[in-house]
Amino acid sequence: MHYELTPELTMMREALRKFVRAELEPLEKKVDETGLLPDHLLPLMGEQGYLSMRLPEAVGGAGMGLFPYCLMLEEFSRSHRIFGLLASGGGGLTPIAIARHGTDEQRQKYLTGLMKGTLRTAFALTEPAAGSDNSAMTTQATRVEGGWVLNGRKHYINGAHEAHFVVVIAVTDPVKRTRGGVSAFLVDRGTPGFNITRVDTTMGSDVIKLAEIELTDCRVADGALLGQPGQGFDLAKESLRDGRLAVSASCIGIADRLLEMSAQYAKSRITFGKPLSERQAIQWMLADTEVDLAAARALVYETLKQIDAGLNVGSAANVCKLYCSEMVGRVADRAVQIHGGMGIVSGYPIERMYRDVRHYRIGEGSSEVQRMLIAKDVLKRVS
Ligand SMILES: Cc1cc2nc3c(=O)[nH]c(=O)nc-3n(C[C@H](O)[C@H](O)[C@H](O)COP(=O)(O)OP(=O)(O)OC[C@H]3O[C@@H](n4cnc5c(N)ncnc54)[C@H](O)[C@@H]3O)c2cc1C
Repeated sequence: MHYELTPELTMMREALRKFVRAELEPLEKKVDETGLLPDHLLPLMGEQGYLSMRLPEAVGGAGMGLFPYCLMLEEFSRSHRIFGLLASGGGGLTPIAIARHGTDEQRQKYLTGLMKGTLRTAFALTEPAAGSDNSAMTTQATRVEGGWVLNGRKHYINGAHEAHFVVVIAVTDPVKRTRGGVSAFLVDRGTPGFNITRVDTTMGSDVIKLAEIELTDCRVADGALLGQPGQGFDLAKESLRDGRLAVSASCIGIADRLLEMSAQYAKSRITFGKPLSERQAIQWMLADTEVDLAAARALVYETLKQIDAGLNVGSAANVCKLYCSEMVGRVADRAVQIHGGMGIVSGYPIERMYRDVRHYRIGEGSSEVQRMLIAKDVLKRVS
């Protein structure tokens, strides 16, 4: 299906497509094998403006709305999920949260480095006893003279082990809790009491690592508070909404690449004297993927445009995340089937993508959590 884009957006997407083909696709295999990002990558992305697409022009960004921004994320993710993650600021869209809610001092301290690719960040909400139910968090920040003291444990925090600073969500008022008693803090690596205690690799790709953070009497100054005291849960929810749309865009990008590779393979692979592409069984799989993708794009693009127009979209971001994360799983499964043995051979992108897309149904809120939130919205609409 063809989507008409403005000439400016078409140009930006073409330029990015060239960048992805020239600079990122050649790195895919190495990044996967070593679990490491080459040192030049983030500064290169920063130089090209790909780390500041969504940030307001006032702070040096491109000021993109969610729709064009997510189109760009689609292109990054076609290559490798990590590149989409880097382009979205790594940790839960932290850069945009600082641009929106940070003080001048915080913007100066962090945004330039994030935009240039010399600083990395992470977003720490999840805890061992507070995953889907993040309102059960126990990490606490206690007010002391001139600052706050943080105690608690966060886990599954993407990239925290490499982050120069982490946004930590903590309870600041145990009575109000998620109703105005949770705050967000910018905690620098090296702050006494802030320790990375474990780093897990995941089934998708070794370059995606989840870290555990132990906070023990970790003292931060007043200037570490992001936004107002008590605003932390709203800030996390805002970040999760945009994060769920970013995930949806990534799923679309990956599904698009899988379809392209499957169609190419089907045309070139001969069985029983004919290309696979001439077999109805294979054509139907390609057709089902095309339908899945078209539905995902229609849903996500319309939601993004409505948000950019300032409309209240209710639970649409949850609908997008649920649909797209499940869609890409179906698409990856068909891609493996079309590729046969080639689809399960390590080191070939199909196998990596098949493993890698599984996490989309868990991270940024699982499918069950999305369904809970969508159902809540539906039930609110009727008396
Ligand atoms: C790749 C990846 C990256 C991540 N990055 C970050 C990050 O950077 N920062 C961060 O803070 N967190 C991060 N997370 C954590 C993620 O947000 C949590 O894993 C997720 O919210 C689920 O929490 P949990 O793992 O504790 O599962 P649990 O909450 O224990 O749930 C286990 C299962 O039970 C289901 N379930 C739970 N409650 C219900 C219910 N009421 N009804 C029906 N089913 C239910 C869930 O859907 C899930 O399938 C990441 C996770 C992944 C996989």
